[in-house]
Amino acid sequence: MQAVDQYFDRIIIGGGAAGFFAAVQCASMAPHLSIAILEKGNDVLSKVRISGGGRCNVTHACLDPDVLTTFYPRGNKELRGPFRTFNCEDTIAWFESKGVKLKTEPDGRMFPTTDDSSTIIKCLYEEARQKQVKILTATRVDSFSKKDSHFLLNTNKGQFSCEKLMVASGSSAAQWSTLSALGHKIVPSVPSLFTFNIQDARIDDLQGISLECVEISCPEINHKTLSAQNGPLLITHWGMSGPAVLRLSAWGARIFHEKEYRFDISINWLYPMHRSQILETILDYKHSNNSKQKILTHYPFRQIPIRLWKNLLTRALKHSAEKNWADLNKREMDIIVEVLCDSKFKVNGKSTFKEEFVSAGGVDLGEINLKKFESKIIPGLYIAGEALNIDAVTGGFNFQAAWTGGHIAGCSMAED
Ligand SMILES: Cc1cc2nc3c(=O)[nH]c(=O)nc-3n(C[C@H](O)[C@H](O)[C@H](O)COP(=O)(O)OP(=O)(O)OC[C@H]3O[C@@H](n4cnc5c(N)ncnc54)[C@H](O)[C@@H]3O)c2cc1C
Repeated sequence: MQAVDQYFDRIIIGGGAAGFFAAVQCASMAPHLSIAILEKGNDVLSKVRISGGGRCNVTHACLDPDVLTTFYPRGNKELRGPFRTFNCEDTIAWFESKGVKLKTEPDGRMFPTTDDSSTIIKCLYEEARQKQVKILTATRVDSFSKKDSHFLLNTNKGQFSCEKLMVASGSSAAQWSTLSALGHKIVPSVPSLFTFNIQDARIDDLQGISLECVEISCPEINHKTLSAQNGPLLITHWGMSGPAVLRLSAWGARIFHEKEYRFDISINWLYPMHRSQILETILDYKHSNNSKQKILTHYPFRQIPIRLWKNLLTRALKHSAEKNWADLNKREMDIIVEVLCDSKFKVNGKSTFKEEFVSAGGVDLGEINLKKFESKIIPGLYIAGEALNIDAVTGGFNFQAAWTGGHIAGCSMAED
């Protein structure tokens, strides 16, 4: 293929959420600049298309920037400043100003009212088109370097040059290698947001059963290093999924990777109830009119589906599980309490959560001026989105980091 030398004032590597948002922002602030997005794929915004099960969980209804940072296992301290500049409220307002209405689900996740990710894609694409951002698909950047005041990019379509460059290439190992060769420290990438593989007779036949709120912890890991996570839990064919599991997978991403995804978890099925409250409830029940009822069929905890209750108790109490409440002795009651607030399971492997997955790792945040999302090592180079060592739990927070970084980098690149 014949090499074509092309110059743009600003070039953005990667046509994803961060790259598009930066391009559009830069173009609206500095319409005189020529701006190009170089995308290696045949299509742009491909992750936006598949995101949120095809509905695109754009952001989260979290309007306090300080609370917002608590959803980011990597980046929680560093994002304080950027979220004061551009946060979920700004994302909502930005999309609404372009005619895209968002709605909030009961758990705080926000989607376009159309429930269709193509609404978000059309909006971003149309904005870029109107602002004359050049979108070059099937254009893969193989390497880049800075020569004097300009960047030179080697691509499969020839050499490009620009004055300011943005890397918005997501979790691209090749781009991280280039950045590393240019002096940036890259935090090794490991998966985040995965579900736990568990083979255990207590949940074998319970696929599809869900609990509204449990707490999961890792007894073998100090709680200061990895704190317990709570939320809904879903029992699957392979083990356990749901927000509580995904949150723990995100906060423990690096630890679980080191353990090769083999570790123990403990579940409090009745969270936010604690041991003493559970015991109290059991004693009240035993001494009430229910004392002649079988423990396997009558119990005071509506949160626990009956099939799970039976599985937990028959395996923990063996023959005593056939008893009536009145006949339970202290040891048996202690066993029930233990099973309800501290059920141990062995995790043996992970599975991908198809609605959303990200990786932990990327460009070390210590080397980025987060007021501009500009490299401290290579002036004029901007980095945002998943290319940075920033990631969040599920709920629209990962896109929010991409919108925030894209917006701030776009504003900075508009400056002369
Ligand atoms: C299945 C799935 C569902 C998800 N759902 C949600 C959700 O609902 N809500 C949410 O908040 N997050 C979601 N996420 C996470 C979210 O998609 C990412 O956090 C977000 O896309 C990151 O944006 P980005 O622009 O940094 O990277 P990306 O979206 O990955 O974009 C990077 C782009 O760079 C291109 N590129 C890479 N290397 C090169 C190169 N050398 N030359 C040129 N181009 C290159 C890639 O092809 C890609 O188009 C989901 C992720 C997945 C995988």
